[in-house]
Amino acid sequence: MKSEGRNGYQTFTDDMASASTRKRQLEAGLNHALTLNEMELVYQPQISLKSGRVTGVEALLRWRSGKLGLVAPNEFIPLAEESGMIVPIGEWVLKTACREGRALQLEMGRALTIAVNISPRQFQQDALPKTVRETLEENELDPASLELEITENILVSDSPKAMTILEKVRSLGVRVAIDDFGTGFSSMSYIMRFRVDRLKIDQSFVRDMAVNEDSLAVTSAVIALAAGLHITVVAEGVESEAHRDLLASKGCDEAQGYFYSAPVPIERMRELIRGLEVS
Ligand code: C2E
Ligand code: CA
Ligand code: CA
Ligand code: CA
Repeated sequence: MKSEGRNGYQTFTDDMASASTRKRQLEAGLNHALTLNEMELVYQPQISLKSGRVTGVEALLRWRSGKLGLVAPNEFIPLAEESGMIVPIGEWVLKTACREGRALQLEMGRALTIAVNISPRQFQQDALPKTVRETLEENELDPASLELEITENILVSDSPKAMTILEKVRSLGVRVAIDDFGTGFSSMSYIMRFRVDRLKIDQSFVRDMAVNEDSLAVTSAVIALAAGLHITVVAEGVESEAHRDLLASKGCDEAQGYFYSAPVPIERMRELIRGLEVS
């Protein structure tokens, strides 16, 4: 820094200042995002590599801020997590995904899975199992149709409370998927202890597997692990036919990614599913 002289230093502090201004604006905006109706969900289909059928959809949150424009989840979710706003926002996500997902099931006449991302912070809330149970009841949604995506760090975190809450949620019959699998710190023993229902191979491995032997090795190992545990495995970030074919040849059950579709509003999902299934 010093060797860059006054200008380098100035730029550095300006960047710091604007980063903290941005952070404050985001935090202030997040507090009102729900009441201002600025949050919405988009959905991305999950496709069976064996049948080509759509098995379910993952709900992904979008924040269209009146003041800041469209803000990416990777920017605002960590802040919402830090401030605790993720708790009411996460509850809104759960309720909205169950309502919209149930309507889609009825429209399509089949039991599509509705996958919802749940933050670690939500697993510190004693009320979570009750909220999940009531949401299922309100929407007459089969618990087996709801899948909660958690990151493996929840399993490793030394939090007995999170574990109790996870067990309670599981006992409702709701399914649990480990998101971004392979990027965290869990081991086989955690996965076996909590008998999760599904693993999601992180998109970084899928992206690199055609060009990087290690990524291909991890991808193959996760597929083999899931087969050995008799649970299903979903690859995310599938962007090409080559990705799809390689995953299918390794025995991966399902795929999700831009190759099939970017996330879309629920109104477009019916048409999207039909299009994916005729081709
Ligand atoms: P994630 O759960 O791992 O979601 C997958 C991300 O990859 C999504 O980004 C999705 O739009 C994107 N994606 C899908 N297909 C492809 C592909 O083929 N290539 C590439 N490069 N990317 C693809 P998005 O929607 O921006 O979400 C980012 C992250 O924000 C999510 O990662 C998740 O960790 C978090 N997030 C999103 N919605 C929620 C939510 O409702 N609650 C919580 N707690 N976290 C959420
Ligand atoms: Ca996810
Ligand atoms: Ca993921
Ligand atoms: Ca991710």
